[in-house]
Amino acid sequence: MSVIKDVIAKVKQTDPHQPEFHQAVEEVMGTLEPTVKKHPEFVKANIYERIVEPERAMQFRVPWVDDKGCVRVNRGFRIQFNNAIGPFKGGLRFHPSVNLGIIKFLGFEQIFKNALTTLPMGGAKGGSDFDPKGKSDGEVMRFCQAFMRELFRHIGADIDVPAGDIGVGGREIGYLYGYYKKIRNEHTGVLTGKGLDYGGSLVRPEATGYGVTYFAAEMLATRGLNFKGKTVAISGAGNVAQYAVEKVNQLGGKVISLCDSSATIIDEKGIDDKKCCYVLDLKNVRRGRIAEYADKFKTACYEGKNVWDVIREQGIKVDIALPCATQNEINDKNAAALVKNGCICVAEGANMPSTPEAIKIFQEKKILYGPGKAANAGGVATSGLEMSQNSLRFSWTREEVDNRLLIIMKSIHKNCSDTAEAYGKKGDYVTGANIAGFTKVANAMLAYGVV
Ligand code: NDP
Repeated sequence: MSVIKDVIAKVKQTDPHQPEFHQAVEEVMGTLEPTVKKHPEFVKANIYERIVEPERAMQFRVPWVDDKGCVRVNRGFRIQFNNAIGPFKGGLRFHPSVNLGIIKFLGFEQIFKNALTTLPMGGAKGGSDFDPKGKSDGEVMRFCQAFMRELFRHIGADIDVPAGDIGVGGREIGYLYGYYKKIRNEHTGVLTGKGLDYGGSLVRPEATGYGVTYFAAEMLATRGLNFKGKTVAISGAGNVAQYAVEKVNQLGGKVISLCDSSATIIDEKGIDDKKCCYVLDLKNVRRGRIAEYADKFKTACYEGKNVWDVIREQGIKVDIALPCATQNEINDKNAAALVKNGCICVAEGANMPSTPEAIKIFQEKKILYGPGKAANAGGVATSGLEMSQNSLRFSWTREEVDNRLLIIMKSIHKNCSDTAEAYGKKGDYVTGANIAGFTKVANAMLAYGVV
């Protein structure tokens, strides 16, 4: 058996109940075979087996009190996966589906994503099975405080710097950071995604959505194409989706879809800037459901279906797909329908939104396919820029941050593209991203000896 197959088999045998983690490991490891031949030093130092084992995994009890005075208990996690190239860094997800396997998959992906950003950040992820939906601000605050009551002892500006993810936006980061500051009596860059008035960076809220659009634009440019006049499908209606809509509009594309976990809306006329502002208010202020968009703008609404199911079932033609909701949202049937209906480019705003079977279809049909760890790295890259500004005790202008984000996304695209070509896989961004990210981290691990 090859080193790679051994590692995959061991991961499955050791943690049989973590399918998302297996999927992420197989996706990365499945492309690393050429590095085994090229770097015997990695094999000798057993880097492949070491890199799939988290440095440290914390699971903790989070007791809190709801508005009725009842004591509730959730489960908290922080996986510090790898800090070879910088302090641990990665978001916190609050969603009922969260479990150890999901946090491990996200933390594992984060190692390579962070390596691609060109900034010194290791990989981590955390979260809880707490569901902020339907909770009052007071309940969310008490939960965040209870979560931080344990998390604070594991993090620090030079140790581990969490940020947002699904269910953790500006409100949650404010409560988390406020409580950290209170109990630690220090004001440092220990979380990113902070509000502008207390150490946040301009363009951080926009960064993942802008970044995925910049990455798609880079991919399109390799075929002499751009966003102008293209029909774009976007899934999700949260942070990443909202700013992807904004940037696609700026680049001349027309976005026709959004969804949340209850429904999908299709707006053939396009979600223009005014409608996009409505979505921001609906989701970030009123915390409503996307179906309200259909009532307001008299568009089609499909309850209980995601964007990709609707596109397949209704035979809707799109040129570009930006999945920005959650893992495994595009299956093989949806992928086949997208390609059949003329889709030329898929760039992943979400983490692992395409199943392995869907990815195979995109690659076989040779459409432009940008995997999440490259395409959505703009969020964490801008978190890295927030950390730099916090260390400098200085704030850059919007133009400065946005320009740095654009430069980083172009450099990630070039790195993936060049690496794929160097390994005889021209145009294969999956192989390019995985090998480029892995090699950087593996070299650093090698330099440290066995630690
Ligand atoms: P948000 O919580 O802001 O938004 C997530 C959106 O996706 C919500 O509209 C949510 O609907 C919807 N959604 C979640 N699960 C499903 C589902 N099963 N079916 C349909 N819709 C669903 O999260 P973000 O926008 O921050 O994150 C979205 C994705 O992007 C995640 O995969 C995340 O890991 C990834 N990402 C985020 C980054 C960031 O900077 N925020 C950085 C890099 C990647 P509902 O409200 O009903 O749950």
